Amino acid sequence: MPELADPLPPLRDVIAAHDLAAKKSLGQNFLLDLNLTRRIARAAGPLDGATIYEVGPGPGGLTRALLMEGASRVIAIERDARCLPALAEIADAYPGRLEIASGDALKIDERELLRMQNINGAVRVAANLPYNVGSALLVKWLTADSWPPFWQSLTLMFQREVAERLVAVPGTKAYGRLSVLAQWRASPRLLFDVDARAFTPPPKITSTLVRLEPLMVPVVLVELGDLEAVTAAAFGHRRKMLRQSLKSLAPDAEALIRSAGLDPTERPERLSVQQFGALARAWRIMVEAGEAPCKSPPK
Ligand code: SAM
Repeated sequence: MPELADPLPPLRDVIAAHDLAAKKSLGQNFLLDLNLTRRIARAAGPLDGATIYEVGPGPGGLTRALLMEGASRVIAIERDARCLPALAEIADAYPGRLEIASGDALKIDERELLRMQNINGAVRVAANLPYNVGSALLVKWLTADSWPPFWQSLTLMFQREVAERLVAVPGTKAYGRLSVLAQWRASPRLLFDVDARAFTPPPKITSTLVRLEPLMVPVVLVELGDLEAVTAAAFGHRRKMLRQSLKSLAPDAEALIRSAGLDPTERPERLSVQQFGALARAWRIMVEAGEAPCKSPPK
């Protein structure tokens, strides 16, 4: 059940007491208004009885909100060791409900971390991420080898431009590799914008809260590596015709495109996720027939 207030001091006092001046190098822009973090926490729900994996709790504004809103457990990973004493105080105030791991979320094996906490089912992920790490983490979570993944929902703060790329439709400027990947395996949704002034210090950009849920069965059945290979080649030259942009994938790019049922003069930015899937399947067949070299997609 949600709680009306928590037993801890205001976040400004916590930051002052633990000398947690925000570090730009760690992408630190803190949310200090518990009404706002509680709204974000609710958007990550339903929380009653839920286990949450939080990345980058910092001084703990979202962590406290998740606990107040009824999460039964929060497992959080924070890279900045300066924040650990403040997070330990939250753990003391909510006995048995908060575990803090010290480390880099980009490097951690989440399944192993959760297994060590005796958590076997999928968890909900909630994070006000550093912008420089946000996209990399999302790609890590969307490209997991085992699917369905360790998460049952991701509720993440992104720079508005990145959020728009996640939900972009074909034919728009924002549509690209990230859109195809996110929409192939998940259902991204924009929830609400958060004004820069809500953060301390305020960043120069507007932020948007996004929610993704994994699709148990992807939009098209195709190997992730094959899909990545065709989207990398296609969006490498997004305004050229397909027959031009896919030359790096197959010597006879026109044959590849036609066998996927597509028009060689079409532009990559206009293809749907299903059409990229058809291209990836056609490319795999050509690779296996020795008609196209097998190459891994550029990072
Ligand atoms: N969640 C807090 C809030 O809403 O006020 C802090 C948000 S701040 C934008 C991002 C946090 O992520 C910082 O505390 C930073 O130290 C942490 N962080 C940055 N890179 C990280 C990484 N690779 N792994 C784990 N935490 C990271």
